[in-house]
Amino acid sequence: MTTLVWLRRDLRLLDNPALSHAARQGRVLPVYILEDNEVPGMGRAGRWWLHHSLSALREQFRQRGCPLILRRGNPQQIIEDLVQEAEVTAVCWNRLYEPATIKRDAAIKEQLTFRGLEVRSFNGSLLNEPWAVETGQGGPYRVFTPYWRQAASQVAGDRILPVPELKGLESPVKSNDLRDWGLLPTKPDWSGGLAWRWTPGEKGALDRFDKFLETGLQKYAGYRDFPAENAISELSPHLHFGEISVRDIWNRLTPFEELAGIGRSANKFRSELGWREFSAHLLYHFPHIPTEPFRPEFSDFPWQQDDELLECWQQGMTGYPLVDAGMRELWQSGFMHNRVRMVVASFLTKNLLIPWQTGADWFWDTLVDADLANNSASWQWVAGCGADAAPYFRIFNPVTQGQKFDPQGKYIRQWVPELRDLDSDEIHAPWQVQKERTGGYPDPIIDLKATRERALAAYKSLK
Ligand code: FAD
Repeated sequence: MTTLVWLRRDLRLLDNPALSHAARQGRVLPVYILEDNEVPGMGRAGRWWLHHSLSALREQFRQRGCPLILRRGNPQQIIEDLVQEAEVTAVCWNRLYEPATIKRDAAIKEQLTFRGLEVRSFNGSLLNEPWAVETGQGGPYRVFTPYWRQAASQVAGDRILPVPELKGLESPVKSNDLRDWGLLPTKPDWSGGLAWRWTPGEKGALDRFDKFLETGLQKYAGYRDFPAENAISELSPHLHFGEISVRDIWNRLTPFEELAGIGRSANKFRSELGWREFSAHLLYHFPHIPTEPFRPEFSDFPWQQDDELLECWQQGMTGYPLVDAGMRELWQSGFMHNRVRMVVASFLTKNLLIPWQTGADWFWDTLVDADLANNSASWQWVAGCGADAAPYFRIFNPVTQGQKFDPQGKYIRQWVPELRDLDSDEIHAPWQVQKERTGGYPDPIIDLKATRERALAAYKSLK
């Protein structure tokens, strides 16, 4: 029996339910398909990540005598071709939960089953599947706290699946050359900062998690909001591409749960994984959230498109140091700390009144962890129009946020080098010091107080 494993965002060998299932059946044909018509198309930072993740995974499969096949085009057509070429008898994959993907996968499953193949799909990326957590009345949750109370109680905590023994096919199957896919940037190659920061692939993911358990976890509850403290896991891109199993993470936190001092951090960390689950739950039940506000009254919000202001925000040239540090961290390294994401998103949607969808699009292109569920739900949360969102009138002040969460200005100095020589009591408001000391750093592009009032007035106009 030969089982084709269609790998998607489960680019790992450990605790991979579809791969383990296939290995138990007999010969395994692992395949990754680059879709031509993916909706929404992957952003540029994500493509960089995918290239390196596939390169690492291909090597893992090669070492086990079971080559990973790369093909490009329409998944249904490619799977059908491979079924013929390699005498495949069964097909399996781990499920994805974006609305368009669910529909597409269901159609492929039906078609292959109709042709007499055995088709199985598995949960390889969530602690609970989106439909498995229901309110007492049987519907979806809209508020995080009750959702997570219920969802956390349902986590099975089963032992994870080991890396399976793999038996490849006897005759070779044609594969594309990864380099021909053009996933990497060339003219110009802007990916130096990404390569400096990240190691895509399963080993990179597991090493990062080990490091977090050793040095970050103990500080997590107290310092996760402080961008210069290295108290976060930075696992989000690895989780997005499925290079590490969320069940593995969950289980490896269990020994810390009851430990004095660190137990609070372990539980806090688990509840952040809960936000990931909640976002997937929301996207599944409310498939319009990538483009439409969860709260319909926000459809009439008087947003203002302004390309000049948008460009200042994108380039980290707003004149507000914490915002600019975050946007430059994003541009240079494909990542931004969560606290700073909230501040820059609030600045865009409330101080600049630019629609949250415009910000989400920029994040989609530039984040290595760009994820439809997390990105859509988080942008809506900050903009005030999402499920269980921050109230609209909560407008982050980037100056006081900087003073509170980056009190020494260490994070700002790292990403905004023009301000490196300012003292910590000056760095959050550089317009108050002499121009010669701020190395060409721009003046604030807007007035915080006036734009805050404008935003509140716009919000009131909705009622
Ligand atoms: P940790 O603090 O170490 O948390 C562990 C894991 O929990 C993360 O890797 C992530 O998978 C999950 N998680 C943590 N916080 C959240 C959250 N608020 N919502 C959902 N999952 C969470 N996260 C993405 O993965 N992809 C996105 O595209 C994305 N876009 C965002 C856009 C905005 C405007 C905001 C405010 C947040 C966004 N987030 C997104 C959520 C969050 O900022 C990142 O998941 C987090 O910063 C990743 O860092 P970490 O892995 O060190 O997180």
